[in-house]
Amino acid sequence: MSTKFTGWGRTSASYATLCEPDSETQIVNEFAIEDDLIPRGLGRSYGDAAQVSGGVVMSNLALRSMGPIDDDGVVTLGAGISIDELLTISIPQGWFVPVTPGTRQVTIGGAVAADVHGKNHHVDGSFGAHVLSMRLVTPRGAWDISPTQDAELFWATTGAMGLTGMITSVTLRLLPIETDQVLVDTERFNTLDGVMASMREGDGAYQYSVAWVDCMTRGAHMGRSILTRATHARTQDVKEATLRAPQASKIVVPFDAPSGLLNPLTVRAFNELWFRSSPKFQQGESQSLTTFFHPLDGVRDWNRLYGKKGFVQYQFCVPDEEHETVVSCIDRLSSSGVASFLAVLKRFGPSNPGLLSFPMPGWTLALDLPVGPSSLPGVLDDLDELVLDAGGRIYLAKDARLAPEKARRMYPRVDDFLAIKERVDPQHQLTSDLARRLHLVGK
Ligand SMILES: Cc1cc2nc3c(=O)[nH]c(=O)nc-3n(C[C@H](O)[C@H](O)[C@H](O)COP(=O)(O)OP(=O)(O)OC[C@H]3O[C@@H](n4cnc5c(N)ncnc54)[C@H](O)[C@@H]3O)c2cc1C
Repeated sequence: MSTKFTGWGRTSASYATLCEPDSETQIVNEFAIEDDLIPRGLGRSYGDAAQVSGGVVMSNLALRSMGPIDDDGVVTLGAGISIDELLTISIPQGWFVPVTPGTRQVTIGGAVAADVHGKNHHVDGSFGAHVLSMRLVTPRGAWDISPTQDAELFWATTGAMGLTGMITSVTLRLLPIETDQVLVDTERFNTLDGVMASMREGDGAYQYSVAWVDCMTRGAHMGRSILTRATHARTQDVKEATLRAPQASKIVVPFDAPSGLLNPLTVRAFNELWFRSSPKFQQGESQSLTTFFHPLDGVRDWNRLYGKKGFVQYQFCVPDEEHETVVSCIDRLSSSGVASFLAVLKRFGPSNPGLLSFPMPGWTLALDLPVGPSSLPGVLDDLDELVLDAGGRIYLAKDARLAPEKARRMYPRVDDFLAIKERVDPQHQLTSDLARRLHLVGK
């Protein structure tokens, strides 16, 4: 039976057969009988990475084993366990994930495959840096791989968007925490230069840092921002030191909002309210882990607010010295009149050896853009050029539109990646709509 798949942005739908293997044997069987396959987790990548038109989508959600957390915080998890499920068990025992994206609704397999980053990349790196080993099933067999055991395949798989095989389990080192709170410092900036200078100078003193940027205001206040930075609260920092599991979201968006609800007018009004309601300067506010890390998880199916046409998340990173590119991109966007509802700026620390891993030392900006305005494709093409000129790249986990020649320039180690993929997937069975579009399947 054919099933419709999209990413979280709900653009670029395609149809494929769904299978949900619950053992290595079943995955091996799928590779023996099917041609075009791609693993899938909870479908939180925005574009077309976890789907393959006319092929087989292998859900990892039945891979559900979960071992005990040992005294050093080491745990082995089935690839289909979500960060939400992990935190439900681990927080009450005093452990947090070392890296979390902006939602808990991602699987461990998806987190490794995209080598996800959080608000702490500048100090802790991306997800792959905390993986001790993993089990990978490929068309040529199954392997335990780690940074020391077949490191080549390990780093080809970390960030490879599922294109080397199906990860079945991951051994991870968690982060010890004393409470379920973080201490947050908030500061408002009227200019982009102001917030960027503060992040460059001050982020090193915090484990977590993120700035919300207003991309709708023009002129002197273009890029005005709210910067929030935090560290985990210790027992003595809070009135009541609790270790509570995250709560499930109670609010659901029940239907698709009318297309055009998020337009320049409504987004401008929202941004104004958001900016003014935030404190100008506040230190040491205690917030729950959920409020700080996963505010969007409070509303289920929030992507429906963008209407049936969906939305694009455009996320790029550029080297540190290219901070002017961030300014130019926001200038291009704010002058285009295309509404960006959420714009998030973070700092990245050193890259890891992942051949297709996204982060590079410097800046990353993520923009949520509703599909609809006729100028949007042209604006995004312009942003691609600015990013390329700066030696930057865009994030494959968010992409649904990049051209292959641009992807090659942004990810210069594609040929090294394809050579390793050839070793484990000589018939080029592992493919996806993203891989076909960007020529990442094989030669
Ligand atoms: C609200 C929101 C906020 C986000 N914030 C961030 C953020 O801050 N930082 C960040 O880095 N990302 C962020 N993301 C993106 C998200 O973390 C990644 O796209 C992640 O990969 C999604 O995991 P998933 O389980 O949904 O995987 P899917 O979206 O289903 O799949 C993603 C990729 O992983 C591959 N894959 C999945 N499971 C396996 C497996 N078992 N073996 C091999 N490959 C596999 C798929 O083939 C696909 O290429 C965010 C997404 C949302 C919706």
